[in-house]
Amino acid sequence: MRRIQIFDTTLRDGEQSPGASLNVDEKLVIAKQLVSLGVDVIEAGFPTSSPGDFEGVRLIAEKVHGPIICGLARAVAQDIDMAARALEPARRRRIHTFIATSRIHMEKKLKMSPDQVLERAQAAVRRARQYTDDVEFSPEDATRSDLEFLCLVVEAAIDAGATTINIPDTVGYSVPDVFAGRVRYLYEKVPSLRKVVLSVHCHNDLGLAVANSLAAVAAGAGQVECTINGIGERAGNASLEEIVMALRLHGEAIGVETGIHTQEIWNTSRLVSNLTGLEVQRNKAIVGENAFAHEAGIHQHGVILDRSTYEIIRAEDVGWQGNQIVIGKHSGKHGVESVLKDRGYLLEEEQLKEVVKRVKDLTDQEKAVEEDDVVAIARDVMNDLTPEEQLLSLKEVSVMTGNGFTPSATIKLLLEGKEVLGTGTGVGPVDASAHALVSIVSAHLGSSLRLAEYGLKAITGGTDALAHASIRFEDESQNLFRGEAIDADVIIASVQAMVKGANRAMNFRKHRRENGKNGLEPSIQKPAVSTLAAQAAAGDKR
Ligand SMILES: [Zn+2]
Repeated sequence: MRRIQIFDTTLRDGEQSPGASLNVDEKLVIAKQLVSLGVDVIEAGFPTSSPGDFEGVRLIAEKVHGPIICGLARAVAQDIDMAARALEPARRRRIHTFIATSRIHMEKKLKMSPDQVLERAQAAVRRARQYTDDVEFSPEDATRSDLEFLCLVVEAAIDAGATTINIPDTVGYSVPDVFAGRVRYLYEKVPSLRKVVLSVHCHNDLGLAVANSLAAVAAGAGQVECTINGIGERAGNASLEEIVMALRLHGEAIGVETGIHTQEIWNTSRLVSNLTGLEVQRNKAIVGENAFAHEAGIHQHGVILDRSTYEIIRAEDVGWQGNQIVIGKHSGKHGVESVLKDRGYLLEEEQLKEVVKRVKDLTDQEKAVEEDDVVAIARDVMNDLTPEEQLLSLKEVSVMTGNGFTPSATIKLLLEGKEVLGTGTGVGPVDASAHALVSIVSAHLGSSLRLAEYGLKAITGGTDALAHASIRFEDESQNLFRGEAIDADVIIASVQAMVKGANRAMNFRKHRRENGKNGLEPSIQKPAVSTLAAQAAAGDKR
């Protein structure tokens, strides 16, 4: 059996999904869960794209062991040097460098001739090899590149020392037959390709990312690049869980297997969904809420008689969890820790202590705390701002609401050491609070913030359930700042989420003032839109 390498790019390509920015703590937690899942390579980020990305890659390189830790770099010296620096602490490190090879990208984006691209590719691989023996090269937009030129570049990259050649379907353009044909052609024309690993990286614009990846594996590819829940730019990347389960069911027929511990799939899926805020669609293959509806109580006659009548995968094979444990007053640290561990949240000691404390506060109030509550609290703790980032905190909030009069809110904030009071009215108490808060913060910043998104969810059932509020503020340059908070009171949860978002906006401003226009502070959420726009302008997307 050929062992197919699973290269997870959730933290790099997945994180480029609009609105899915993760802070470094969240990236670390996901990386640790990817180790439990058994992936072979973790692409931890794109170190030159932002200081936050650099810090994330560096932290994962330092603290996550087992898989190869990979960093992305354009085929320019500065990117490669920076990736090498971020990856320095890793026991096994890979530099992944890329340059576009399609005519449209070379002419319109790079403004380079094919000869120049070829030269640049070789120079990049050589430079990366000075730092590590493990170098991956991607000819970006390979599926729209001239096949003969693609062969030339691939051969040149291997000559320069690349150990993995990745063929990306950057724009999700290909179909399985054609894509597999390209892989076979490359093997035929570039004999040295047999000595390295051929990888594929498919996007899902036509809904064919998984099908294209599987076709390439059957044609000889040895590595598949994919993301949890298929997240990624535009329509996303090939979904890890779909590829893995398809290979589990059909791998034997083509003589391949993966090293993935499939029982960790469900937890990993929920972890990524919770931390990125990107919900899994109900009918999503393998990990959607409805994928194992039989288990959820919708017993169909055939399933009761014999499960194999309608089930091709057993729920327990992907670690699907049905019922939840209730955390009691006396569950203590171990109870909380084991719930979190089961769900993939391997927290640092200090964070764990904080979660235990908050759970205890709730059980002391005689509240029934369920597993999902514990997970929500852990997320909240990971999202906490550091004391230095806390430029703004909530002192008091009061709201008046009812029918027959206009809802209003009064908010008192502690703003850089000074107490400030604001009032607002709105269609409801949350809207009124938002107006009150935004009026204070906008006056202070000298620019306007707008509440672009607001979401509220009860974490478990019942009117005494914890509420999870998530918001995004937008400034006039379309930078987005997210905030999330939980509380037993929906108004408090909402206002606290807005306070976090406002803090991020203020920190972003402060650091831009201090570091010039592009200065981004590592611990700040990367404002997703502006960074993506900047990358697009610089031609950084793959
Ligand atoms: Zn991609």
